[in-house]
Parts: sequence; structure tokens; C-alpha cells
Amino acid sequence: MTNQICVRCQTSTDKPVLVRDEHGATGPGRRHYACSVCAPHFPRQLSPMAAFEMARAPGNEYAPP
Ligand SMILES: [Zn+2]
Repeated sequence: MTNQICVRCQTSTDKPVLVRDEHGATGPGRRHYACSVCAPHFPRQLSPMAAFEMARAPGNEYAPP
């Protein structure tokens, strides 16, 4: 895990928590990270486990080649 700047307190953290994932229309989206202290102050939007569960849910059309 690389260091990221917390979007709330602007402090570099080595344990960044993804709090916002913007999908760009024409390119890679921007990802906003917060430190572990600030993360609880953000509404929960995406967690790796949630994304994982969505990807393997029955009926989901996503299927790896
Ligand atoms: Zn912070």
C-alpha cells in the first residue's frame, strides 16, 4: 500500500481508506482517500469486500473470461 494524502486533514497516511471513487467519463477516475482517523466521518460508499461480493453474486452478468 502506498502512502496517500487524506482528503480531510491533508495528512499523509500509510493506511489509506478509500472513501470516494469517482469514475471519469473519458479516463481513469479519481480516488479519494482518508486516513483511518477521518474515514469514519465519511459516508460508507465502497469497501473491497462489498465489491467482491457484488462481483461473485449469482445473476451478476460480470464474468471473468
Ligand atoms: Zn485524515
